[in-house]
Amino acid sequence: MGRLMGTSHARLRSHNRMGVVIPHNKATAELETVVMPLPDKIVLPMQQHIGAQCAPLVKRRDHVDAGQLVGHAEARTTADIFSPVSGSVTEIRSLYYSNGRTDVAIVIEPDGEQTVAETVAPPVVTDYASLVEAVKGSGIVGLGGAGYPTGLKMDADLSAVDCWLVNGAECEPYLSSDYREMMEHPDDILAGIGTCLDLSGVPRALICIEDNKPKAIELLRTMAADDARIGVLELPARYPQGASRVILKNAMGRAVKRGGHLTDVGAILFNVTTMSEISKYLKTGMPLIKRRITVMGDAIENPMNLEVLIGTPTGEILEFCGLSRKPAKVIAGGPMMGITQIDMDYPVVRQQSGLLAFSEDLCGRHETTACIHCDKCIGSCPMRLSPISIQKAYRKADVAELDRLMADLCVGCGICSYVCPAKQPLTQSVGLASRLLKAEQRKARGRG
Ligand code: SF4
Ligand code: SF4
Repeated sequence: MGRLMGTSHARLRSHNRMGVVIPHNKATAELETVVMPLPDKIVLPMQQHIGAQCAPLVKRRDHVDAGQLVGHAEARTTADIFSPVSGSVTEIRSLYYSNGRTDVAIVIEPDGEQTVAETVAPPVVTDYASLVEAVKGSGIVGLGGAGYPTGLKMDADLSAVDCWLVNGAECEPYLSSDYREMMEHPDDILAGIGTCLDLSGVPRALICIEDNKPKAIELLRTMAADDARIGVLELPARYPQGASRVILKNAMGRAVKRGGHLTDVGAILFNVTTMSEISKYLKTGMPLIKRRITVMGDAIENPMNLEVLIGTPTGEILEFCGLSRKPAKVIAGGPMMGITQIDMDYPVVRQQSGLLAFSEDLCGRHETTACIHCDKCIGSCPMRLSPISIQKAYRKADVAELDRLMADLCVGCGICSYVCPAKQPLTQSVGLASRLLKAEQRKARGRG
């Protein structure tokens, strides 16, 4: 793949063709971020990450400050939750999501003062162990959508890791939140990478960006030119370029075994905004309490990239951006991997990159017809799975067959449903199959 060190690798370009070409619809890309005023209320779910749900540390009528720890779990895999505002706790309530998941949320009424918690102070970081501890206390999770606790991801043996991948692919249509981070905060991204490389001993980093973002590629190449350890890799704009196994293969030509981790093959992967947030946290000590989302769709009057406090209700965001027509579907996240919002009181969570509102014209219901055995779902799956076979095995609850078909490797990208002419609910079926198989695997290991 060419030389990897020094500026000579700045023109490095991947030619791997995994994934499919889909319309980008990134009309908000060149719109500078708008900061949304304080919402009327904050709804703060306790499960905004992969891992153990946090328990509320506050109760009704308590006063909280901005940046105050309000949710915590005594578990290794979790990420603390912090209040984005100063104000009063008005309620602890239940949430029921459209995908069947439930959660508990702290509801806070802002007092408008935004007084900052006394605990907020830049962390003291002197070595890699203290960097990991600092990030664990920052509330930062994978901000590209994964939601895996970032401090925990860093708390691994990196001695065999030779490249820190930084994911700026942002392959989902409509979303331009990461692109704006690259255009507006390239210095924070590069400072975060520099700190991680300096303290971890990982020798180099590759910022991976799809070729539909030439300005970001040019900007980061120019700004990183003085650091021979950091390169910018141009990847073809093919969905799902940003999926971890896909980007690993396309950027480094490496593959992870089933059940393995990227570190097994010498890589660690962060989303570009995650890297930037680490840098901001090290400077200010303010934990993750806000993020940028792309608000778009044919029902949105003023599409934009919007900085919102985590916990801002969907309805208040739609009101701020305006609706040009009645939305038939509101999606938290992108159109391929996001989840439908059924309650406009439900808030932005920290791993959410977008909020989309579509009219009936764009998301009218489609009739499902019988499979015509065209094999398009198989040919398009980036994980080389057979979605239709997995769907059949799932309907028979045939766990042995799901294991043989490796349903657990599904990354939920949505391509199989997108390409299916029969409109079979393949993504949903494979997602459920994957969950079932993983539960059985956990049981077999005696953890379930
Ligand atoms: S089976 Fe999973 S990974 Fe494959 S196309 Fe469907 S959603 Fe994507
Ligand atoms: S894409 Fe749809 S119609 Fe074609 S084989 Fe897969 S499930 Fe059947």
